[in-house]
Amino acid sequence: MATILPTPPKVGMVSLGCPKALVDSERILTKLRADGYGLSPDYAGADIVLVNTCGFLDSAKEESLEAIGEAIAENGRVIVTGCLGKEAEMIRARFPKVLAISGAHQYESVVGAVHEYAPMPKNAFLNLVPDSGLKLTPRHYSYLKISEGCNHRCSFCIIPSIRGDLVSRRPDAILREAEKLVAAGTKELLVISQDTSAYGVDIRHQSREWHGREVRAHMTDLARELGSLGTPENQVWVRLHYVYPYPHVDQVIPLMAEGLITPYLDIPFQHAAPSVLKAMKRPANELKVLERVHKWREICPDIAIRSTFVVGFPGETESDFQYLMDWLDEAQLDRVGAFRFEPVQGAPANDLPNPVPEEVKEERYARLMERTAAISAAKLQAKIGRTLDVIIDAVDEEGGATGRSKADAPEIDGEVFLRDTSGLAQGDIVRVLIEDADAHDLFGVVTE
Ligand code: SF4
Repeated sequence: MATILPTPPKVGMVSLGCPKALVDSERILTKLRADGYGLSPDYAGADIVLVNTCGFLDSAKEESLEAIGEAIAENGRVIVTGCLGKEAEMIRARFPKVLAISGAHQYESVVGAVHEYAPMPKNAFLNLVPDSGLKLTPRHYSYLKISEGCNHRCSFCIIPSIRGDLVSRRPDAILREAEKLVAAGTKELLVISQDTSAYGVDIRHQSREWHGREVRAHMTDLARELGSLGTPENQVWVRLHYVYPYPHVDQVIPLMAEGLITPYLDIPFQHAAPSVLKAMKRPANELKVLERVHKWREICPDIAIRSTFVVGFPGETESDFQYLMDWLDEAQLDRVGAFRFEPVQGAPANDLPNPVPEEVKEERYARLMERTAAISAAKLQAKIGRTLDVIIDAVDEEGGATGRSKADAPEIDGEVFLRDTSGLAQGDIVRVLIEDADAHDLFGVVTE
């Protein structure tokens, strides 16, 4: 007689915030699936709902609080985790019915709370998880978190007080995870942390054995090993995010020129004017960055550099802003995002003198976006007529598809729109002739 297994409880997940929080959500769900829990895509089918919150900006906090309120109204059995979990008293005061609250990357607490409030029936199967873990991103790209926390104290940021100082993962553990992801179909690894170039500083760059080799806990070694996971027939793109321009960053540029890792650097410069960078207390703030950017382009002409900037930081004068605009003209960055300065509760920058009026922030923001869009448009125009590798993100029913070139990270950069596609599938990497461009995106056709 067949054994009738009890139905395991189902967990719903609302995941807010940055890619690092998304990785946390994936880890929590992976563990819960390993413990035998089911997942529910909606409130109605869930026995319990997890809300992974973001507490970075006041606007993100408000969004997190709204998500908690909605989960309580729709389901009623809610566990809160993530960055906002640090403010447990405030959450409890507003939502007394919340079952449990834990902070960022406290996986055990979250999983323990789920076991307490939605206990598993006996006999649950344990082996429900694919080797790669359970992912919330599409199968063809994966975020790979290499460390937690940050040793810097940028004056506008409260992340170190939420997530603590830098704690690096062992290189062999990261490479094992990456290898499993690739075996499960990942074609693009997005390396993330708060400060990728600082990877390994806390563990003195200690080496670990990996497939018979010693691999240091260092960004360069890790990048080289990750780049070796692919082959010419089965490409694996390795994209480095949140890289600060420390001198050793120069060492990864030849790896990009060799084609071992993706020629892309996400460097959150935030500003260029020395007085603003000083007030921001930014790491690796030095005047030679522009010279180095030019040198990187000599070594690897295809390198795409993405960055974010803050305008209207307290004390930013018109001449500081003009310095930034001139710097951008010179740097010719490929992708730029910008924010108007917003005080974050608990950040030292809030007490700095000379706040910039809102209308001035708006005006500077508009000028910066206009300038960087023009730079982007010119750079994309120069790609017309070239043939580029493109990874396919989505194929539609009308025969079109969207993908990204190596210069584009998912969700934050541009796209490549393809016509006349047939037989393409998500995750394919194809050669595309670029036929047209606008300020942010490319348009083309598959050549082979
Ligand atoms: S480097 Fe600065 S902005 Fe980034 S997490 Fe650390 S303190 Fe925050």
